[in-house]
Amino acid sequence: MNPVFPGALLPKSQPATLGVMGGGQLGRMFVHAAQRMGYNTAVLDADPQSPAGRVSHHHIQTDYTDEAGLQQLASVCDAVTTEFENVPAASLNALASTLPVSPSAACVAIAQNRIEEKAHFTACAAVSGVSVAPYAVIQTLAQLQAVPANLLPGILKTARMGYDGKGQVRVKNAAELAAAWADLRGVPCVLEKRMPLRAECSVIVARGWDGSVVSFALQRNVHVDGILAVTHAYQSNMPVAHVNRAQAATESIAKHINYVGVLCVEFFIVDDGSKHGSLIVNEMAPRPHNSGHYTMDACDVSQFDLQVHAMAGLPLPQPRQHSPAIMLNLLGDVWLDAHGKSRTPDWAAVLALPGTHLHLYGKQGARPGRKMGHLTITGADVEGVKAVAQQAADVLGLPGVDD
Ligand code: ATP
Ligand code: MG
Repeated sequence: MNPVFPGALLPKSQPATLGVMGGGQLGRMFVHAAQRMGYNTAVLDADPQSPAGRVSHHHIQTDYTDEAGLQQLASVCDAVTTEFENVPAASLNALASTLPVSPSAACVAIAQNRIEEKAHFTACAAVSGVSVAPYAVIQTLAQLQAVPANLLPGILKTARMGYDGKGQVRVKNAAELAAAWADLRGVPCVLEKRMPLRAECSVIVARGWDGSVVSFALQRNVHVDGILAVTHAYQSNMPVAHVNRAQAATESIAKHINYVGVLCVEFFIVDDGSKHGSLIVNEMAPRPHNSGHYTMDACDVSQFDLQVHAMAGLPLPQPRQHSPAIMLNLLGDVWLDAHGKSRTPDWAAVLALPGTHLHLYGKQGARPGRKMGHLTITGADVEGVKAVAQQAADVLGLPGVDD
């Protein structure tokens, strides 16, 4: 089904209202971007303390599947987007019967399911030449027993509901694989060959209702324990051949499913004995992405601005990055000392450093691994940005910024 958009929701004296499914930090930064352009906002999230709900004009505190909540959202909004990729497709479809919803339920459904996602990437690989890691679908005992030995050691990933490395088990051999699948109660999974990663990166694009596409440059990402820790956003962060191929692949991944909105695609650079390694595609997020947070401080248009533009049918300006940037994720661990006791990070020391931009999401309760905020460092040149980022990391007790 091709999405049909009734017309641009231009900012005017009577504000239109833009809605978002999900009230986390991505929703909060979306709300800020929309409000800056004069829109009213509505957030649907059951949590009364949700970071986005607390800063929005409307906060509908129901589950994603609550019919009355969805009706209320539809009645106050002129268009709806999502910040959470596990919103049930049925809820997005219900909203789409009365107002423009982007990305569509069909696109979000593909990103929700690793089996469909990999099939989509494989179809796009015929055009882009960028394929996925070798994998097998495991939904039945027969499929488990038929797994080729060359996929091991591998990573067993649940088809649904995985994030920040959750729903993943590393397995060395067939016995471990069988035990891991049983532990996951035999839910649909994919087994991916464990690849020798040299680097990880991502590309964020925005695609409009009219099919126009703009793109941010590729980011290099460093993960620790399956969670994004550092994003390097500057030229020379990756060999140029990878940058161009990843960008083209991301655009074709968006175009192939007539995607509308902001899309992030994650890639691996795999060691294959060649000088630069080879590029493979990992997964996609149907929304702005943690690796694109630097765009708020280092680009003239951010990923959240483009989310607003895309859903409202406004033109999509090609973003221009005006400063090299490094983003440090601030997980709950930063608020805890070595003994797990709570502490207040030395923000004064961090903010005294040049070019630091602190973003805190207003979450109550720091827990290890919980995304509480991020710090972006911008500056005139890459070396200077790296030096300040390292100083900030030292103050906050974070690992080194260069892997
Ligand atoms: P996200 O928070 O990005 O949604 P996720 O839980 O959905 O994460 P992935 O992105 O698939 O999961 O994997 C998390 C991390 O695990 C990757 O960033 C990478 O560091 C590592 N990883 C995943 N798959 C592989 C693989 N096939 N080979 C080697 N490392 C891998
Ligand atoms: Mg990932």
